[in-house]
Amino acid sequence: MIAGKEKGKIGTVLKVIPQNERAVVEKLNIVKRHTRPGGKSAQGGIIEKEAPIHISNLMLVCGKCAEAARVGKKVLEDSSKVRFCKKCGEILDK
Ligand SMILES: [Zn+2]
Repeated sequence: MIAGKEKGKIGTVLKVIPQNERAVVEKLNIVKRHTRPGGKSAQGGIIEKEAPIHISNLMLVCGKCAEAARVGKKVLEDSSKVRFCKKCGEILDK
């Protein structure tokens, strides 16, 4: 996360929504939703849920360097595109 109130936090990307360039990151950008008893949920209360964040606010963290990676792109021999850490060369796309 590189912007906003949660700048500097690190989380695991749970889901990427390519259509609107957003991603859901574990434990980031939590929104509280008040629900009422009945309907779909059996009991009312507050549920906490991760809200999607625009990917421009996110930065990849290299698992090897354990810090925000400067990301480069390259094309592999099988012509698939991957992102890699410019520092250590670790492939970031799995
Ligand atoms: Zn690295």
